[in-house]
Amino acid sequence: MGNLHSVSLLQTTNASLESRSGQRSDFSPKRILVTGGAGFLGSHLCETLLREGHHVICVDNFFTGSQRNIGHLVDFATFKAIRHDVVEPIDLEVDEIYNLACPASPPHYQADPIHTTKTSVLGALNLLELAVRLQARIFHASTSEVYGDPEVHPQVESYWGNVNPFGPRACYDEGKRVAETLFHDFHHRHGVEIRIARIFNTYGPRMRPDDGRVVSNFIVQALKGEDITIYGDGSQTRSFCYVDDLIDGFRRLMDAPASLNRPVNLGNPGEFTIRQLAELVIEQTGSSSKIVHRPLPVDDPTQRRPDISLAMRELEWQPQIPLVTGLQKTIAYFEGVLAETSPALIEVA
Ligand code: NAD
Ligand code: UDP
Repeated sequence: MGNLHSVSLLQTTNASLESRSGQRSDFSPKRILVTGGAGFLGSHLCETLLREGHHVICVDNFFTGSQRNIGHLVDFATFKAIRHDVVEPIDLEVDEIYNLACPASPPHYQADPIHTTKTSVLGALNLLELAVRLQARIFHASTSEVYGDPEVHPQVESYWGNVNPFGPRACYDEGKRVAETLFHDFHHRHGVEIRIARIFNTYGPRMRPDDGRVVSNFIVQALKGEDITIYGDGSQTRSFCYVDDLIDGFRRLMDAPASLNRPVNLGNPGEFTIRQLAELVIEQTGSSSKIVHRPLPVDDPTQRRPDISLAMRELEWQPQIPLVTGLQKTIAYFEGVLAETSPALIEVA
């Protein structure tokens, strides 16, 4: 128990009661743990849950997350942030768990690949064991990377994927695949109610300017008037989902009927080449940046597009925000970030 961290129950507060006003009278706030809650997606999820009236504990080691992502959440007395690495067990009293902790950008997850694998595998194990003790439903942020460089297009959940287990992306891809295996086995052996989202490339405000993923890279480069770096010839494709659409999918999936204990693709089926994305960002920013080419990273998938039939059928979900609209919102965010001097910080336990 040396590494076990204990945190007391969250208290119901006046602020939480106020934030629930306007809710249905049968609304019952839950205590919800969000690992990776200070990251890009996690911070949006925390905010959504708090606005719904729930109590949220964000657990994060702040590797790629930041205090500025959650600074505005101090307005909610029902929010608490804890610095903790999910590789170590944690003990909390909550009703539901969202497991998002893991660096998602290739340069970041490849910076310490052994820790990335440990984060996915030991993180999943620790949180599943907590879910067993609490009898809590647990959501896992899996990824389209479980399909690797896919030979089936678009990717449907029944496809097993084409992953190199011995390359620079394997720490992430295989870590996420093992995590899915653990979720499968905890469900079948221990009856844990699981939710698995296979997330396709998602973008939006609160990505870090130095995140390294393509949308933030291109926007920051365009706004700074720097060269836009296309890796390879730019013919590889991705499908880009705006963050608000994805978080709506998370919420629908978590609250879906008990039978949905299997992976569900969440992403925007619109498919673009990386060159098209670069041209769109230049057009939307009005930038004079030039496109340059850099070497294609090893094992970079050539195509990716989700088949979202399952989410449409079971969750009545499909993305609403087209790429141009999402890019405009994201460009506005990065314009603000690049103009800023001192970000707001909050105290973290
Ligand atoms: P992100 O890097 O912004 O957020 C990850 C968060 O997890 C950060 O706050 C980071 O500090 C935290 N974290 C990392 N390792 C940790 C550890 N060992 N212990 C505790 N906290 C840790 O990435 P994101 O885009 O917000 O992704 C969130 C989740 O969604 C990740 O699990 C990622 O694999 C998954 N995902 C994201 C996308 C996407 O396009 N954004 C696509 C597929 C899957
Ligand atoms: N990419 C690029 N320039 C960049 C960053 C990424 O051309 O500055 C390419 C990358 O090689 C990949 C695609 O954009 O083909 C998406 O990369 P990202 O890292 O965003 O996500 P992932 O490869 O994990 O889907």
